[in-house]
Amino acid sequence: MLSQDSLAVHAGRTGLTELGVHAVPIDLSTTAPLPSVHDGGLAYEQMATGGPHLTGQSTVYQRLWNPTVARFEEGVAVLENAPEAVAFATGMAALSAVLLAVVATGKKHVVAVRPLYGGSDHLLASGVLGTEVTFTTAAGIRAALRPDTGLVILETPANPSLELVDLTAAVAAADGVPLVVDNTFATPVLQQPYPLGTAMVLHSATKFFGGHGDAMGGVVAASPEWAVRLRQLRAITGGILTPWPAYLLHRGLATLPVRVRAQQAGAAKVAAALAGHGLVRRVYYPGLPECDPLGLIGTQMAGPGSLLAFELASAGHAERVPAAVKMITHAVSLGGVDTLIQHPAGLTHRPVAAEAKPHAGLLRVSVGLEDPADIITDLVGAIEASR
Ligand SMILES: *Cc1c(COP(=O)(O)O)cnc(C)c1O
Repeated sequence: MLSQDSLAVHAGRTGLTELGVHAVPIDLSTTAPLPSVHDGGLAYEQMATGGPHLTGQSTVYQRLWNPTVARFEEGVAVLENAPEAVAFATGMAALSAVLLAVVATGKKHVVAVRPLYGGSDHLLASGVLGTEVTFTTAAGIRAALRPDTGLVILETPANPSLELVDLTAAVAAADGVPLVVDNTFATPVLQQPYPLGTAMVLHSATKFFGGHGDAMGGVVAASPEWAVRLRQLRAITGGILTPWPAYLLHRGLATLPVRVRAQQAGAAKVAAALAGHGLVRRVYYPGLPECDPLGLIGTQMAGPGSLLAFELASAGHAERVPAAVKMITHAVSLGGVDTLIQHPAGLTHRPVAAEAKPHAGLLRVSVGLEDPADIITDLVGAIEASR
């Protein structure tokens, strides 16, 4: 068995030698030749009901199957140690498909552990997809279950405050109800929820998988039963990942382990520098002992990652800092090669209910691949200049 670093480079690239190519081909076909009405019809039915494309069959139509997308999915499944993966246009399209698949099982109640990404919180709170949600904490999962609970959803590390959830304990508390973990912050390099008993692992591939801020996508690594449901929903509702971003996201997987480790090393230094600064009230970074009370770093997670948040005394100060950075970019999103800073209460978590809204003095930083000394100089300079 190859190590994850080797798998990241090679997964999803089978058969390239036979094709006589070195890079993964980008198949842009929206439609595919049909051998006959009969065989084309069978292929259509196979894929529209959530089955995979079978070798030798026509792929029929890009909304049903695309080879470039399938290679990316194979790469994600391998890295997540999961049987299958299903890719979508965005992380939110992936979450929408998960929620619709849950409703289709006849159980519409969802137990959602806060904090969640603001967009996920918004989608769940709105109920537009027919779900009914109970928001709770990791400790409250079991008590929130109902006979019609079809899904438990959680994020760890959570967005934006980097709280960690013990996944083994959460799976036990879910008591047989399928659990979906948003693993966007950790990536499979640092954490693999599927082997711990979660039914689905969701990613905004827009973030670390692409890694360069130039491609959107979402993907769910899943058990075969859920993969069938998700593919069927994708075929019916059309939230597909298209070949160009699929190519970029797949290419991103090759450097994912190296980027994640290098960005993590930088983030540890940035977190330490901020933790020792007099104007910073509190730093949220899983690598700081007070942020990992359950001792999950080194056990559940291979490392604390490259996202951190810090709290300043006032909302006013926090709002001035992103305007004062020079090298760092003031922007939402995360996981790319360049460092980004944003104000969760004002931006990513704007739609979240007041009781769950992040502190107005909180800023979130996604640490990139720049020299950590330059990141610290820029950040500390901005904090001091805007006090
Ligand atoms: C960005 C993000 C999403 C949503 O993904 P999109 O690709 O923007 O649709 C979901 N979960 C987390 C943790 C995210 O950071």
